[in-house]
Amino acid sequence: ATPTAIMVASGLGAENGILIKSGEYLEVAHKVNTVIFDKTGTLTVGKPTVTDIVPREPQREKLLLKHAASLESYSEHPLGRAIVDYADQQKIGLLPVTDVSVISGQGIMGMVHGCSVIVGNSTLLEMNGIHGFEDVTTMKLELQAKTVVHVASGGIYLGAIAIADKIKDDAISTVRKLQEMDIDAWLITGDNEHTANAVAKEIGIHHVLSGVLPADKAKKVEELRQSGQVVAMVGDGINDAPALAAAHIGIAMGTGADVAIEAADIAIMHARTSGVTDAIYLSKRAMRTIR
Ligand code: ADP
Ligand code: MG
Repeated sequence: ATPTAIMVASGLGAENGILIKSGEYLEVAHKVNTVIFDKTGTLTVGKPTVTDIVPREPQREKLLLKHAASLESYSEHPLGRAIVDYADQQKIGLLPVTDVSVISGQGIMGMVHGCSVIVGNSTLLEMNGIHGFEDVTTMKLELQAKTVVHVASGGIYLGAIAIADKIKDDAISTVRKLQEMDIDAWLITGDNEHTANAVAKEIGIHHVLSGVLPADKAKKVEELRQSGQVVAMVGDGINDAPALAAAHIGIAMGTGADVAIEAADIAIMHARTSGVTDAIYLSKRAMRTIR
């Protein structure tokens, strides 16, 4: 593209909340044939709320919430915030917590009022020798696109908390526009298979990578590059920064973590998913002027 075409496209982008860090990305974005979306905060609004409590024993429902919320008050994860807010609404007071460890992409552990508490996905609980999951109800919730977080205390399974996050208004139309341009859309998430598939189905995404640990997101991007795809990665989390850097084009949501915005080549300040297709249109437009 000519310097003028690049300048015009960058200016148009900026006016529309799309910050393109360097003209070179406009020379690449029009070639993208694979767009990988992070789930939480990228395709979804990123403000999850608690929808269901599934105690193993009804009389322990309050204890389940109290222990989970006390521990999660030490987490910066959106799921943790959802649990703390819910406990607050239910007027459940928090207990003192020590020895907190955050297990990125899996959950959080610590001592709550002298009890060893684990809150996280089923893998984390299984790794810590917890059994007796309520599978039928929780799987139903996951198939409704909800994230299920399990809670154990003192080595005993207390039950689960289901959390839902709204899909962004324009996610479906953005994916449809990509498909019209012959661009494959992928969903990548640390969330479990059932939830990830349910969200993908709702949006119309056919390629799903679920249960991906934060450290492995970049590896997945690399694999798609190796297979010859020109890859754009779209994300918002600290988790996503290495994957944003590994892609041909990293696109960050302006509502995301600073690290993600720094690692990206393009930042979408308004945080609507349509910013992704708009960035590709801008690139196509800039390149067209030389023909
Ligand atoms: P995503 O890729 O959707 O941003 P993460 O990698 O942050 O998800 O987390 C993956 C999974 O790990 C979550 O779906 C949840 O099951 C579990 N998890 C992570 N952090 C927490 C937490 N603070 N409390 C409970 N569960 C958590
Ligand atoms: Mg995210």
